[in-house]
Amino acid sequence: MLPFTGNPLDRRSDKRGNIAWVAEQLRRARVLPLWQTQVLVTGAPVLKAASIPAGLIGTLAVPGAPLVFLGLDMETPVFALDVSDNLEAPEALKPFGEFRDLRIASLLLRRHDLAILSQAKGMIEWHSRHGFCARCGTKTVLADAGTKRVCPLCATEHFPRTDPAVIMLATYGERCLLARNVNWTPDFYSCLAGFMEPGESIEEAVRRELFEEAGVVAGPVRYFASQPWPFPAALMVGCYAECDGDTLTLDPGEIADAVWYTKDEARALLEGQIEGRRGPIKSAIAWHLIHGWVEGE
Ligand SMILES: [Zn+2]
Repeated sequence: MLPFTGNPLDRRSDKRGNIAWVAEQLRRARVLPLWQTQVLVTGAPVLKAASIPAGLIGTLAVPGAPLVFLGLDMETPVFALDVSDNLEAPEALKPFGEFRDLRIASLLLRRHDLAILSQAKGMIEWHSRHGFCARCGTKTVLADAGTKRVCPLCATEHFPRTDPAVIMLATYGERCLLARNVNWTPDFYSCLAGFMEPGESIEEAVRRELFEEAGVVAGPVRYFASQPWPFPAALMVGCYAECDGDTLTLDPGEIADAVWYTKDEARALLEGQIEGRRGPIKSAIAWHLIHGWVEGE
């Protein structure tokens, strides 16, 4: 199981449109606050999600701030709350925990808590970016316990977005292709990736991205696994792609460098043993794609 997966919550989509039921859940809820995309965590060295009692919602969040029912953790209702507009929130919530960047905290969080916080961050960020109707431009309102938005003018329902992106380890014989995006730090190498486009299968997106970014032609594409990646709303679809050759033609607008790594070199990169270079963090699917291939997946 990959990090960010394994969410234990029962989302109760059959109940979350029932206002009385949701209000009853909120009275005894664990509330996970998010502040300017950061999540509240506690504990050391292993982190867990920190929650606040529902009674604090009114004093912490501005009226109308997104409050989202995430699901039931056994019998306990879990909600996410956006407290971004309260500049005092980090100080006020110190007795409960500390706000941290989820990508960095992902290396230390308990599996279930990471998956729940991933859902919370995805939902709160979706609300923060989708306040207006994509059809008519009117300000939309929350519905179904924050799990959708509705336009009061044209009645269009808007549901949380998940944007699929392919991420692939291209291989040629006993070597794999790792690259550095122009936007990354100069020492960082990882798998190639890109968003899927309408009208494309996963395999077609993998082949298109590899050809566009590195000029390599891929033959067989094999699905590996997928991973929610709430930065802000991606679903990473991991694949292996066997290439027909190793000649590279890089897209200078996207790729600063790309290198074919042997298995020993790729293993050394993951273990941080190549001076001046680092690979993906262990909570990212890229790490698991490379690791799986190195270990003979
Ligand atoms: Zn509308």
